[in-house]
Amino acid sequence: MLWPSFERGSVGLGRLPAQDFSVRLGALREAFGPAGCDALVVSSLANVRYLTGFSGSAGLVLVRDDGAVLVTDGRYGTSARAQLATAGLAGAGVRVEAVPAAEQPGLLAELAAGCRSVGLEAEHVSWAQKRAWSEGWAKGAELVATAGVVERLRERKAPEELARLAAAAAVADEAFRRVLAMLEAGSAGRGGPSEVDVAVALEAEMRHLGAEAPAFDTIVASGPGGAEPHHRPGSRQVVRGDMVTIDFGARVDGYCSDATRTVVVGAGAPSLAELGRIYSVVLAAQDAGLAAVREGALASEVDRACREVVGAAGMGELFVHGTGHGVGLLVHEAPALSASSGDILMAGQVVTVEPGVYLPGVGGARVEDTVVVCEAGCELLTLAPKTVVPASR
Ligand code: ZN
Ligand code: ZN
Repeated sequence: MLWPSFERGSVGLGRLPAQDFSVRLGALREAFGPAGCDALVVSSLANVRYLTGFSGSAGLVLVRDDGAVLVTDGRYGTSARAQLATAGLAGAGVRVEAVPAAEQPGLLAELAAGCRSVGLEAEHVSWAQKRAWSEGWAKGAELVATAGVVERLRERKAPEELARLAAAAAVADEAFRRVLAMLEAGSAGRGGPSEVDVAVALEAEMRHLGAEAPAFDTIVASGPGGAEPHHRPGSRQVVRGDMVTIDFGARVDGYCSDATRTVVVGAGAPSLAELGRIYSVVLAAQDAGLAAVREGALASEVDRACREVVGAAGMGELFVHGTGHGVGLLVHEAPALSASSGDILMAGQVVTVEPGVYLPGVGGARVEDTVVVCEAGCELLTLAPKTVVPASR
């Protein structure tokens, strides 16, 4: 193995630093003026988790200048109160109301009393919801459409968030190391595991290592399947001469990691000649992309750096997606690293760099890391080795 094995304790699970949620609510209140509202209904669950630590599947937070209330239903009353207490918010003007859905409009009307303009998260509220609210509990107030208010706060990660992102990356790295041995059978010409076998094993290892869930459905794309960037793992068995693209991530205390490795199975097999060339171009493109990441760089420059390497090899048209995306509580969040992105990278953002080349009918390769944007460059969070050839016994 090319990188050191480690015990679960060393990824830092169980001693993750406490998060300062009251700073986040303070920063949100400062954004009320520019957003044109004096209260905000936060209905994106990722934003709710960012602001309060609540991880349930139903709930919203009404944030006012003088307090905040998490409104959820009876399924989550106990856990929501416990999570707010852990977040240090219970005594800080934030409380939980767990009431049935039918009673929530009446409650919201009371909570919003006295607010002149109530902001809604336009990207997370349905047309039907907005209509029901404006004709119902919010009748006396002006409803204001806001966009990205909490998301902008989430872009630059606090140190305690970086600790969680690093832990998620470490869990995924270790799970990958453990599962790689499965591919040895294919490499040795014996019956290899199926794509589903590899995906299931990887997700199970991540759970055993302390992930609350995989960050997304694991992609395992072998042989010709590698030509589809988002291939769904199937029953195809990995065989000697395959390249296998594995895109995987763990979620630890809400925070995601995202990495892709392309594994060469049965090095030296004739089918790998063309695929090997694709792989080295992708690896060089990713190096160029990583070298372009730093505070102040245009996100589109990182994309261009990757695309120039792929284009120079005559494979430009086979790189069919953007170069990367932000990672945090969601596996895909701002900023976007693509040709059309207007984003400028800021220190503390966490982004992926993931060029790929896909040759229909033949196969493909992608290499992806999650990195922290720093003043003079970037720091890798995902550390699994990149030239991955399982040993053949
Ligand atoms: Zn990925
Ligand atoms: Zn990604």
